[in-house]
Amino acid sequence: TPSMNDLKDIIRDVPDFPKKGIIFKDITTLLQDARSFQKMIDLLGHRYIGQKIDKVVGVEARGFIIGSALAYKLGVGVVLVRKPGKLPSETFSKTYDLEYGTDTLEIHKDAIKPGERILLADDLLATGGTMAAVVDMVEQMGGNIVECCFMSELTFLDGRKKLPEGKVYSLLQF
Ligand code: 5GP
Repeated sequence: TPSMNDLKDIIRDVPDFPKKGIIFKDITTLLQDARSFQKMIDLLGHRYIGQKIDKVVGVEARGFIIGSALAYKLGVGVVLVRKPGKLPSETFSKTYDLEYGTDTLEIHKDAIKPGERILLADDLLATGGTMAAVVDMVEQMGGNIVECCFMSELTFLDGRKKLPEGKVYSLLQF
């Protein structure tokens, strides 16, 4: 069974993607390896088994993979946060700042009910802008955030500072 270091090592560094100077953490190499994928979901799942969680929210697109596997393991539903124009029913949306320009995310208005305990999931925490936008939307809908969980975290970017204190967990740190 893969160790924590094995899981880190199987994530591939891709230089100059999506643009020059950025070293992209390519998690597809972990996902396509049966034992690594299973171990990663089992480790994340064990953290939350026994905690009262009503739903997992997954962020497009790689967060869908982590979020849905985790939700299945916990026996709860999964809610999709998507790029604009993809969700068919009525949505709330949130626009947030990027280094250059802005981005928008959407969630179905009926996806979360006030008081529900929500676990947020994505593949990677970088600057924290994406997850901070998701936190805002879920809180505005009255959801209680249990934790923001990530498969991996680029710690040097300090993305945690944008997220609720003490409610951030990452399995692997770079
Ligand atoms: P942030 O908003 O924290 O700066 O960026 C995180 C979002 O961008 C996540 O949804 C994540 O999927 C994506 N992302 C940014 N950098 C990387 C990277 O190096 N590897 C992967 N797999 N995703 C990244």
